[in-house]
Amino acid sequence: MSDHPRVEIYTKTDCPYCEKAKDLFDSKGVDYVTYNVTGDEERFEEMKERANGRETAPEVFIDDELIGGWDDTSALDATGALDEKLGIAEETDDVVEHRNLIITGTGIAALTAGIYAARSDNDPLLFEGDEPGGQLTLTSEVDNYPGFPEGINGTTLVNDMKEQAKRFGAELEHGIVASVDDGVRPFRVTLENGDVYTADAVIAASGASARTLGIPGEDELMGYGVSTCATCDGAFFRGEDMVVVGGGDAAAEEAVFLTKFAETVYLVHRRDELRAEDYWENRVREHVESGDIEVLWNTEATEIHGSPQDGVDSVDLVYHPEGHPTAKLDDAQTEERALDVGAFFVAIGHTPNTSYLEETGVELDDEGYLRTQGGHGAGQTKTDVEGIFGAGDVVDFHYQQAVTAAGMGSKAALDADEYLEGALSGATGEAEGSAEAPADD
Ligand SMILES: Cc1cc2nc3c(=O)[nH]c(=O)nc-3n(C[C@H](O)[C@H](O)[C@H](O)COP(=O)(O)OP(=O)(O)OC[C@H]3O[C@@H](n4cnc5c(N)ncnc54)[C@H](O)[C@@H]3O)c2cc1C
Repeated sequence: MSDHPRVEIYTKTDCPYCEKAKDLFDSKGVDYVTYNVTGDEERFEEMKERANGRETAPEVFIDDELIGGWDDTSALDATGALDEKLGIAEETDDVVEHRNLIITGTGIAALTAGIYAARSDNDPLLFEGDEPGGQLTLTSEVDNYPGFPEGINGTTLVNDMKEQAKRFGAELEHGIVASVDDGVRPFRVTLENGDVYTADAVIAASGASARTLGIPGEDELMGYGVSTCATCDGAFFRGEDMVVVGGGDAAAEEAVFLTKFAETVYLVHRRDELRAEDYWENRVREHVESGDIEVLWNTEATEIHGSPQDGVDSVDLVYHPEGHPTAKLDDAQTEERALDVGAFFVAIGHTPNTSYLEETGVELDDEGYLRTQGGHGAGQTKTDVEGIFGAGDVVDFHYQQAVTAAGMGSKAALDADEYLEGALSGATGEAEGSAEAPADD
């Protein structure tokens, strides 16, 4: 019998978070068994029962103990507790390692930066964060990334970029950066599990996380019919009516994707027009014409009803002819209604992942996006702290596309290379520069 704990993972077909869970255990060299619940009702019911009624995959168990989904597993990993449960925890000294360049994230921006930085011999180390591969792993269909005439699966694109970065010597490790100390050189980069690394330069490419509505029922039913990832969970609710909340690209794409499974998709938007690019608006319109999407204009959700045992039952909605109805609840024109649905998807945008930079001299805007020099959105990559650079959605609140993230990742690596050449040769003295001093343009 094996000395190691028994790891079991319930998975489904085309489930990016299931792949992330498997990758995590693979990266630790830990064996596991998988049970694919797609099309296997008996396994699905078994998973539900063992996971206290949860209906999402993956569900991870270690020695029969429920660890939970990807978020729970990755959160446990970030604290080091997962390694303890697996019996592979190591005693570590204060500073684990020094690198020329540390990059936060393994999304499109970080991986592109990793490819460029590795090719420039800058020895990059990338930390995966809590969403290895970033947001693009949540979509099965990427049709607008140049070079793929037939389109490409998001996870495939990201995995290919990972292989490309590794080919030139970039290293990828699981870990969430908790803070960066910019008062010393080299920078001290501390992970949530307490490990400390040092680096001569840092590229922040930590993207942005899905926002939620904060309405009653949302937290309680998250994972039980409420989700922020249609590609991960849509198939679980085949044949049900479903709600998607939002009016941008992500909401339009998720609504279109869900038509594969839903009886009807209700796209709930608080204004009277979408903010999605024309391509997605047209796709939504086609599905409206064929009757499988209904757009509920000027409408907001106020409460989700259901239970962890039975999932989502219904959602309360409010409507006002001039939009933003929750701001006009006392208005005579505001109408309330309940809609019976079996699933509820939130697609209302993102919050930048920059909390680890809050104590540094790096300037953040009111929403927490990183300010870099050179203009709006996809501008240049230098922050207010020499040696710390920003790239991708964590900076570029406007464009937020894979190709713009990639472009900015390459710029950040080139800017970091220029900085490192000066800093490491001592030519500019930048390595000893004050954290407060603004970078030269
Ligand atoms: C459902 C969906 C579909 C999409 N479809 C398309 C499409 O078809 N075409 C397109 O161009 N764009 C698409 N996008 C947008 C695209 O995915 C993003 O613009 C792109 O992924 C941004 O890349 P990024 O590297 O800046 O950030 P992200 O992809 O968000 O990656 C951020 C990375 O940082 C990590 N991280 C976060 N915090 C920390 C921390 N503290 N420490 C270490 N690491 C951290 C995360 O784990 C992650 O690896 C889609 C987005 C979604 C959600």
